[in-house]
Amino acid sequence: MKMPDMSDLASWQSIDRAHHIHPFTDQKALRASGSRIICKGEGVYLQDVEGNRYLDGMAGLWCVNVGYGRQELVTAATRQMEELAYYNCFFNTSTPAATRLSQLLAQVTPDGFNQCFFTNSGSEANDTVLRFGRHYWALKGKPEKTIFISRRNAYHGSTVAAGSLGGMAWMHSQGGLPIPDIAHIDQPYWYHEGGDETPEEFGIRVARQLKAKIRELGPDRVAAFIAEPIQGSGGVIIPPSTYWPEIKRICAENEILFIADEVICGFGRTGKWFGSEFYDLKPDMMSMAKGLSSGYVPIGAVMMSDEVADTLVANGFLSHGFTYSGHPLACAVAVRNIEIMLNERLVERVESDIGPYFQEKWASLKNHALVGEARSIGLIAGLEMVKDKSRREKFPTTARVGLFFREAAFRNGLVLRAIGDTVVASPPLVITHAEVDELIEKLGRTLDETERYVRTL
Ligand code: PMP
Repeated sequence: MKMPDMSDLASWQSIDRAHHIHPFTDQKALRASGSRIICKGEGVYLQDVEGNRYLDGMAGLWCVNVGYGRQELVTAATRQMEELAYYNCFFNTSTPAATRLSQLLAQVTPDGFNQCFFTNSGSEANDTVLRFGRHYWALKGKPEKTIFISRRNAYHGSTVAAGSLGGMAWMHSQGGLPIPDIAHIDQPYWYHEGGDETPEEFGIRVARQLKAKIRELGPDRVAAFIAEPIQGSGGVIIPPSTYWPEIKRICAENEILFIADEVICGFGRTGKWFGSEFYDLKPDMMSMAKGLSSGYVPIGAVMMSDEVADTLVANGFLSHGFTYSGHPLACAVAVRNIEIMLNERLVERVESDIGPYFQEKWASLKNHALVGEARSIGLIAGLEMVKDKSRREKFPTTARVGLFFREAAFRNGLVLRAIGDTVVASPPLVITHAEVDELIEKLGRTLDETERYVRTL
């Protein structure tokens, strides 16, 4: 069968329509509209088969931290494929790539984190966390501690356990989730759920739901609390200042593990290597993926505190793993990716240069008629499009304002995502000042168009 010419959009769309079921997509609507076919990436820019260029304000799916088209990563992948395309880490073996990556992860994660387990994705990392967390307590002589507490509207992945840990009702409604022994409390989403409380009051109140839930379930039954430092796919929900200190206190008082999902917040997104450092969380385990390889190859990991890892190791056999745990190609690329981040001081750049610049520009969008709140930390940001700013009132979901925005942004050469009517951004960490200006200018123009659209409703 002949492949279409690169620029033949209609042919690519017709093949895609016939054979490809897309993740998290309205399949019927997509088959009517046809897919965009993206074929190139360079720096912060993408290009589709028709030659249209887009500034990728999302770094793919929050992952292409070092930007597209990095020759160093191509070279690392090629060399590894030539030397050893595959070997596993079962049967008392390892590879130089997997071994070196475990060492580098120990270097860039906070003190007390020295041991990791490799997966292929963030979902698998969170499935791993669930099994390891329960196994840890069993080894401590408390096998009845099996319940994981998470938060409504959390996203932790799409496999059975990770989807159950997530708190999205629309996900639970397909495929019979959640599995037993998962509980959810409210999220610290002050803007739309804080009512008349101040952010600080609200932060304390929702944090204390953890205490109430532990009491309700019984502390002897609860294994862990899992959360992202900043919820990404939930809508870049930055918790009030009171939230994390109170959660930390409650975890410490109740002998439960605290698990930070660093799949989005990890690898520099907040201006620290990990979101846990930004909030001084000191978790017991961290799940990670995305920025670990800047999305160039699929890889995830679970980083364990010495206490957790030593407990698992002391017990001997661990009945968990994947054919591709520590895949040499993925590890070689991840090693080179982390080296680039270290050599170019990308995390420091987010903390003290491009992050503050981006945050200032982002905050200025608050003056737009549609924008109720423009929040950001490092290079992760959210912006609330609302019907009435003074009352923090939402548009009706049927108006599909977010969807209009996203499509208009594409037409303006900008990729951003809308989660409901919350616009989110997470550009590559290498974005320049001029590219931030371009992002904000295109975003402003798209907001103007969206405002004209909502006036027609
Ligand atoms: N956790 C978080 C916080 C995520 O954002 C994601 C992916 N968006 C995942 C886990 C799942 O990662 P993956 O898609 O690689 O399975």
